[in-house]
Amino acid sequence: MAKVLIIGAGGVGTVVAHKCAQNPDVFNEIVIASRTKSKCDAVAAAIGKANVTTDSVDADSVPELVALFRRHNPDIVINVALPYQDLTIMDACLECGVNYLDTANYEPLDEAKYQYSWQWAYKERFEQAGLTAILGCGFDPGVSGVFTAYAAKHHFSAMEHLDIVDCNAGNHGKAFATNFNPEINIREITQRGKYYQDGEWIETDPLSVHRALTYPNIGPRESYLMYHEELESLVKNYPTITRARFWMTFGQEYLTHLRVIQNIGMASIVPINYNGVEIVPIQFLKAVLPNPKELGENYTGETSIGCRISGKGKDGKPMTYYIYNNCSHHEAYLETGMQAVSYTTGVPAMTGAMMFLKGLWKRPGVWNVEEFDPDPFLAEVARQGLPWHEVVNGDIEF
Ligand code: NDP
Repeated sequence: MAKVLIIGAGGVGTVVAHKCAQNPDVFNEIVIASRTKSKCDAVAAAIGKANVTTDSVDADSVPELVALFRRHNPDIVINVALPYQDLTIMDACLECGVNYLDTANYEPLDEAKYQYSWQWAYKERFEQAGLTAILGCGFDPGVSGVFTAYAAKHHFSAMEHLDIVDCNAGNHGKAFATNFNPEINIREITQRGKYYQDGEWIETDPLSVHRALTYPNIGPRESYLMYHEELESLVKNYPTITRARFWMTFGQEYLTHLRVIQNIGMASIVPINYNGVEIVPIQFLKAVLPNPKELGENYTGETSIGCRISGKGKDGKPMTYYIYNNCSHHEAYLETGMQAVSYTTGVPAMTGAMMFLKGLWKRPGVWNVEEFDPDPFLAEVARQGLPWHEVVNGDIEF
């Protein structure tokens, strides 16, 4: 029996809150706190349970977070606000003795730079405080790392090539919308591509490397090589990997809009002065784009995210392995009111917190998900709405 504090009431926060409320044997008290309390109230009202309460916080402020933690005294905080808030929330956790979980690595507001160094630097302090911090526990990062850990534990003696493949074959009927926070999403997609090969990181022009990949139950979709944060921890934790890449699908319509947005300067994170007011173009753009939270109702199709791995099997012979989940936007919407991108992020975040509270993923320090036992997590995440499938020695197209 434990108390969980969810920070952030966007698409992902909404799913996390629903899923925690579905598991009252583990999460018997749930607090949702965010900058805009009315959004938390709306989520709590939709859930309609007495053990769900709300509060407000500016998570950029450590003193505000400390006051929030002291008011509620949670066992763990699930950070599903934005990556900018990771360090302030971790600081407050240390000050108040609260365990931590997030779904995206820290990024400074003024620089789209994805690396774990800032958060890994907290390892000793969490260790000394006897607190657990679980980093990157959404789908990717998150389940992608747990899938890799599962492959290493059960199938491979040495993994060599890892390709994480992320397909959204859904249709929300809008000309252009992002599936999670537009600012974070566009920052991520417009950065230079990067992959790991023989001990080095190789950079590519944004979205310049692409190929068709075939996804289960979906078919071929053009997939673009991007940098994604879990590659950093996975190549560190699995040193036999000689090549690690991340691929994501985009439709032509989406890419055309994105190109225009970039060409006219709307993706910029550099503040400009407009009529005496300082605005950041990408933040202004976010304000006029559809809210990812509201995409669910007419969203059809499904997502398919997984890991395609090759290397040497436990018997030393070459093998390939594909482990993946497909998730329907409509079914996610019927259960939580949110589309599959929020759902596939929120369910693993809740599951990771559950693993911690059950003592299965409890270890003082700062950890990426692949550093814990994948078995109980994958059994639970399947029960909670994200079943997964394996293909051994099939054609992984790489
Ligand atoms: P949204 O923009 O929909 O929601 C973000 C929430 O955080 C909002 O409620 C927002 O409040 C709140 N927030 C923002 N800044 C602050 C602050 N300073 N203090 C308190 N609350 C704040 O985002 P999503 O739900 O789509 O995404 C949430 C997180 O999930 C992001 O970090 C994203 O990177 C991550 N993610 C991870 C994925 C994975 O697979 N690992 C996939 C998809 C997303 P307000 O409404 O007032 O702005």
